[in-house]
Amino acid sequence: MKNVIKYNKKIKKILKNIKIVVIRYSKSKNHLVLSMPCSNCQNLLENLGIKEVTYSTECGDITCEKICNMPSHFTKLIRSQLEK
Ligand SMILES: [Zn+2]
Repeated sequence: MKNVIKYNKKIKKILKNIKIVVIRYSKSKNHLVLSMPCSNCQNLLENLGIKEVTYSTECGDITCEKICNMPSHFTKLIRSQLEK
């Protein structure tokens, strides 16, 4: 059990230094589209100790945002985007 805790701490320490970059590219639109992680992924990343995510926006820009500032109702928005 002690080993498991030590192992988790080690992983969290590594994950602290990891940057997540999510890029979505639309072939039909020929530019970057929205790739903000959905609320499920936001929770997962937060649980892993990741604080920030870099993602592409619907305007074709790349932005970096803290997970705690991301809208949690985002899943709905992304679904409507994907259905288009
Ligand atoms: Zn997701």
